[in-house]
Amino acid sequence: MTLEQVTKELKGYKGRTIKIMEVCGTHTASIFKAGIRSILPEEIRLISGPGCPVCVTPSAYIDKLVDYSLKENYQVLTFGDMMKVRGSKYSLTQAKALGGKINYLYSPLQSLALAKENPQINYIFAAVGFETTAPLYTILLEEMEKENIQNLKLLIAVKTIIPALSYLCEQEEIDGFLCPGHVSVIIGSKVYEPLAEKYGKPFVVTGFEGEHILASVYEIMTQITTGDFKMKNLYTSAVKEEGNEKAFGAVMKYFEPCDAYWRGIGTIPGSGLRLKEEFQKYDAGSEEAFVEETLPKGCSCTDVILGRIQPIECPAFGKRCTPMDALGPCMVSSEGACGIWYKNR
Ligand code: SF4
Ligand code: SF4
Repeated sequence: MTLEQVTKELKGYKGRTIKIMEVCGTHTASIFKAGIRSILPEEIRLISGPGCPVCVTPSAYIDKLVDYSLKENYQVLTFGDMMKVRGSKYSLTQAKALGGKINYLYSPLQSLALAKENPQINYIFAAVGFETTAPLYTILLEEMEKENIQNLKLLIAVKTIIPALSYLCEQEEIDGFLCPGHVSVIIGSKVYEPLAEKYGKPFVVTGFEGEHILASVYEIMTQITTGDFKMKNLYTSAVKEEGNEKAFGAVMKYFEPCDAYWRGIGTIPGSGLRLKEEFQKYDAGSEEAFVEETLPKGCSCTDVILGRIQPIECPAFGKRCTPMDALGPCMVSSEGACGIWYKNR
């Protein structure tokens, strides 16, 4: 079937409204870039999901980083995206203005070089992410062990996507999922099969080009029309059935599953990774960074990350909440749904 035929068929859809969730923020950005929404009829709604680590990191975690940054002889290391997210009082950018010692890095391994160069400083690395970044933290931990690094610790907020998808299937009304491309490279496509079977929904592993996304939407619509629900991998060039077993196997040497707190959602059982007991000496107190919290008044991030509303339907969007002065995390991260919608208004 040609792309023109796929587009024509999708355009002609006239049934009930179908909600398809793209779990990952990079897909949200690609959907805008390729103008996919303008091709689809109103009855096919593409909604964003909780696939951006910055958006789902609780404010207590930011607070803990802020506290560390203000302590004598301590320095916080983080990815740039985390800088503008608010904690309960300050963001890391604001903490820096107050004298907090915070540097941002492009790779976790840069923290190793810093720790070796400055043994008098205690470094705290903000280890957020999904299965995609966990292998990098594993390499870092291996090196720390090998070189007996004592002045670097990780504040860990690593999340896993499968328990979150189960949660979404149980709590929300979503008709089908575009599975995250990068995460799937690591965890593989097979892991979505039990979800498709249990919940009777399409799970389609998708690449990032416009035509990949369109083909995946078509696959989801076909499954919905025929009632034959399954996992389908349409990104076979990068995603293997079993994923990258070597990378994820190494992760599980250091980490074990744990319950995790998702900002705006709450605790999802088994949806995080924490360091195993024998590696706790590398942990900077991650468990204390996950406590129940309430979102700022007027922020609808919960509804955005659960796909109940589109970002523009949040009353604060573009008014009280802009990328320059964000109320919620979904507006500040480069993969945040609200930030992406704002940029593409
Ligand atoms: S526009 Fe701002 S306040 Fe509203 S949901 Fe998005 S991030 Fe939260
Ligand atoms: S809504 Fe926020 S958390 Fe979810 S994918 Fe989008 S950006 Fe990430």
